[in-house]
Amino acid sequence: MHDFAPEDRRVLADLADWMAERRAEPTAARPCSGDELPEVGPDGVGIEATWAVLRDALLPSAFPTDHPRYLAFVGGSPAPAAIIADAALSAAAVYGGSELEAGAVVTAERAAMRWLCEVVGYPDSAHGTFVSGGSLANLSALVAARHGRVATDGRAPHVIVAGASAHSSVRSAAAIMGCEVVWAGSPDHPLDRADVADVLSTLDRRDVVAVVATAGATNTGAVDRLEEISELCQERGVWLHVDAAYGGAAMLASSHRKQFAGIERADSITIDPHKWLFTPFDCAAVLYLNPELALAAHRQRAAYLDVVNEADGDNPADYAAHLSRRARGVPVWASLVANGTAAHVDAVEQCLALAAHAVKEIDAAEHLELAGDPHLSVVLFHRVGWSREQYESWSAAARRGGFALVTPTLYGEHHVLRLCFVNPLTTTADIDLVLESLECDAPLS
Ligand SMILES: *Cc1c(COP(=O)(O)O)cnc(C)c1O
Repeated sequence: MHDFAPEDRRVLADLADWMAERRAEPTAARPCSGDELPEVGPDGVGIEATWAVLRDALLPSAFPTDHPRYLAFVGGSPAPAAIIADAALSAAAVYGGSELEAGAVVTAERAAMRWLCEVVGYPDSAHGTFVSGGSLANLSALVAARHGRVATDGRAPHVIVAGASAHSSVRSAAAIMGCEVVWAGSPDHPLDRADVADVLSTLDRRDVVAVVATAGATNTGAVDRLEEISELCQERGVWLHVDAAYGGAAMLASSHRKQFAGIERADSITIDPHKWLFTPFDCAAVLYLNPELALAAHRQRAAYLDVVNEADGDNPADYAAHLSRRARGVPVWASLVANGTAAHVDAVEQCLALAAHAVKEIDAAEHLELAGDPHLSVVLFHRVGWSREQYESWSAAARRGGFALVTPTLYGEHHVLRLCFVNPLTTTADIDLVLESLECDAPLS
């Protein structure tokens, strides 16, 4: 079972070709009944039969996020360099929690983290780590914020102040931490200084874990007013966490950088490379202005860990709610060094240009109407005359047919369709196909 047999090697060779070729002809949502799967039993079916089921039945049943017409939620389109590094990480059995075990792999992760810190405008002393997702990044940052407050005041704060458009993971983090969320502002407007000041004026500062602002709201793409919010938080001595899980990549585009001014004053920041920075799932970064505070909150202690903690290495395990971990920064680093940072800027610009094309076409189409101002690479729009049921039945048919993944959402009280562009493999022709498919009335389901 543990030796690489000739059939394992044959499958590896096929895997390499398949990885490269599936991009040219992406399949999606191909029906697969559970009947095609071999049983889990005492005797195995061998790797060739197992790989055939994976390649031909299981994986094609997914709607892959790098499909050019996957425009729902926030997808992701990993670059080949990142995919190769990610596959190699698995094969090399690297434990990414500590430098003692991971060796210079940690140096590569640190280089990727340094680049992200430069992108946001953090000083050399800033640092962080890569975790499974924005949800864990947000939780880890908020736990670090609370730990710092307890250390200062000697009592545990229990209130997280979050903008109304904050991601659902903030509520979940609060629940895990036994905290309450006090919402500020309204979901249809970017959070501003007055919204946060209003809420803070009703609270004892010592009860406040942190203020959470969003840079690229998941539903609308809107960026909160970071400059004025960061000023306020600094004046009041309150930890500011900026959730830029989706939107952070837009900082690479000079046309959009201004909106993020002030982010460099945040105490912690979340950016998901698995969304718009071209790595495979899963990879999210949590960045800290003062990493010592995060280390104090998160470093685990045990007799068997003394050898790691006393080794004075850079231990990625120390900066989030995890211990064993995949060295998730390596795919980020591999794409940066293989392709160069300029290619990443271009790829992000390309997605923004796709969103601009969609806006132009929707504006020109009689059957479509923009909903609100578009932000970053998210475009919300109405199909004139459609009910919620029609949106849902059109969306379900497009998904089941493997044509497109585009899902409805709410904008204010209104049902709308939402497009999110994070895949430079999408073409303007793909967008036109999706918009044209909305011309005929969808049947009421
Ligand atoms: C996607 C998203 C998250 C959650 O990230 P996961 O990687 O899915 O855990 C958090 N915040 C924002 C703003 C997001 O867009």
